[in-house]
Parts: sequence; C-alpha cells; structure tokens
Amino acid sequence: MAECIFCKILAGEIPSKKVYEDDLAYAFHDINPVAPTHILIIPRKHLSGIQEMTEEDRELVGHLFWVARKIAEDLGLSPLGDPTRGYRLVINAGPMAGQTVFHLHLHLLGGREMGWPPG
Ligand code: IMP
Repeated sequence: MAECIFCKILAGEIPSKKVYEDDLAYAFHDINPVAPTHILIIPRKHLSGIQEMTEEDRELVGHLFWVARKIAEDLGLSPLGDPTRGYRLVINAGPMAGQTVFHLHLHLLGGREMGWPPG
C-alpha cells in the first residue's frame, strides 16, 4: 500500500528501530512510547487491521502473538515464574477503539504496572 506508513517502514523508506524480523513479521519500537517497553509487531502483509482478517490469516495472526511472546520473554517481561513481571498485548480496531494507523499491529507494552479498564 503506497500511502501506508507501516508499509513504508517495511520497505525501509521510513526509518525504524528494529527489534525482530522474519519472513512474515517485523517488530520495532513505537515512536511515541506509552510504557517503558512499547513495541509494535506487524505482518509484512498489508491488512488495514484485525477487522480485515480473514480465515486465511489465522496462522499469520497467531504468528504475531508468537513473536510478541518471544520478544517479551527475551526482554525479561514474562510473568512465568515471576508474578512481579508482566506485559500487555493490545490491538485497536477502528478509530472508535483508538486505531490511528491502518496496517494491522500488535502493541507490546511493559515495564510498568497497567491499569484496567484501559481508557
Ligand atoms: P494505533 O493507535 O493502535 O493505531 O497505534 C499506532 C501506533 O503507531 C501509535 O502508538 C504511534 O505512536 C505509532 N507510530 C506511528 N507512526 C510511527 C512511526 O513512524 N514509527 C513508529 N511508530 C509509529
């Protein structure tokens, strides 16, 4: 998608701070972090959001969560065996839910205590 900023990041046309990449997914630091750790995990395939996911994307979306869990573990955020740690995975679907970039992305947030419900 020519006008999609995350497609431009994938193409290397906009710089990003890479955390992880493979043939399906790319992860980078959010430009405007709202937690000490704030990483975005995106598919290389352009989907406007989770709302555009079809059955054929089931493995791909599962892969994004797999990558997020791996990154969280690598960064020492996993609560497994240590309940004082933890992280949150968020997908905003549509402007009403706070989505501002229309290329599917999973937020990985960590490094501080989180409140509930979210705003
Ligand atoms: P959304 O509000 O769920 O759509 O999240 C979009 C996220 O993308 C926000 O947290 C933004 O700070 C982030 N963002 C927007 N442009 C860039 C960029 O160029 N690099 C890294 N993160 C970005």
